[in-house]
Amino acid sequence: MATDPRIPVRNEIDKVLDKFSTYETTTLSSLDNVEAKLKELLELVENAMPMDDDSSNLDEALDSEESEAPLLSSEQVSNIMATLAEVKSVSSSVSAKHRELHSFVSKIGKCIDKNFETSYDFMTHQTAFLRDETRPRLYEIICNHLCREGLQSTADQLMEDSNMNINSEFMTKFRDVNAIVVALRNGDLQPAMKWALEHSEKLKEKTSSLEFKLHRLAFISLVAGGAQNVTAAIEYARDHFTPFIPNHQSAIQHVMGSLVFMRTGLQGTPYSGLLQTSQWDDLIRTFTKDACTIMGLSMQCPLAVCISAGCTALPVLLNINQALTGSQVHNMWSAKEELPIEIALGKNNYYHSIFSCPIMRQQSTESNPPMRLICGHVISKDALTKLTNANKTIWGWASSRTSQKDTRVKCPYCPVEQTPQEPQQIIF
Ligand SMILES: [Zn+2]
Repeated sequence: MATDPRIPVRNEIDKVLDKFSTYETTTLSSLDNVEAKLKELLELVENAMPMDDDSSNLDEALDSEESEAPLLSSEQVSNIMATLAEVKSVSSSVSAKHRELHSFVSKIGKCIDKNFETSYDFMTHQTAFLRDETRPRLYEIICNHLCREGLQSTADQLMEDSNMNINSEFMTKFRDVNAIVVALRNGDLQPAMKWALEHSEKLKEKTSSLEFKLHRLAFISLVAGGAQNVTAAIEYARDHFTPFIPNHQSAIQHVMGSLVFMRTGLQGTPYSGLLQTSQWDDLIRTFTKDACTIMGLSMQCPLAVCISAGCTALPVLLNINQALTGSQVHNMWSAKEELPIEIALGKNNYYHSIFSCPIMRQQSTESNPPMRLICGHVISKDALTKLTNANKTIWGWASSRTSQKDTRVKCPYCPVEQTPQEPQQIIF
């Protein structure tokens, strides 16, 4: 197992941080020292200067040929010269140390290059999206992402530019959902209310809280309006909350409590949280989730799922590549577009089970379901039929008396034999 490539980089970073802190301490103390000396000199020069207002400029005073006596004693002048030389030496030492820091910083870059993979070419599937049947799927997934982000016009443009009419049904569905989300963002509950009413039955089936959340926010909006809305708020609660009492009793009780503070405003009361924008964010999340489920769209953006799966798989693939460096692997993907090993993508990326027959290399369908052999190995029904037929052909010559019952099928993975009737269908 390769060592963690972050360790040497971290060591280099620690070295630089150490250098920085030493640099800071030493530089600051020598600069403070120099600053103090310069201040002293400045004071000395200022005191030596004649108080004459016309020659307040330091240079003029020093250069003045008219001054009869020198302003500073020779000892003071040599003191100034010594201090200036010290300033020069300190500044060159500071800049030299600074240059030294650069070399330590650049070492980090070199260390990253040395320990981390910079080329991912071996992992890319060069032809995956070049085929006619796969390219539209790539555009579709990008359009799907754009629509989910509310960038409908960009998605339309992409479709136009790619000369593809991608799943227009999906686009229309998303257009409707987006319009409602935009309205919700603007504080308009009506389009969502209308949608919820149209899909009321389905929402009830999945025990969605969307309808309640919509009415709750409509009620809160009335409460936020202040004293003038008291009657309207009470009437609204009476008209709309009753069907939700069995499932949302405590939430209704809480929200009704806010009526007490309607005249004074909810700010600073235990109900101030009802006015927060997070209430709307939560409603938008619930609406998007329910709308996606009801319309048969996945809740997660497929592009995000792909990227997250790729990021999970990347370190494992890098390790394999490092281990195989000697064998000059140019591409990880097999001819069957499969990766060399199976990579666990974590529970978040578990979806419905799809059985892929190891013999026929096909995904199971309703007409070709997975069959469990008595040994526990699973193959598709088509594979089982093929094995049975193959055995019939082999044994057919032996005796015409060989009946269907006598045909034995051997598991392709272990020595166990069984009759074609013994395997059982698996239903996921
Ligand atoms: Zn077996």
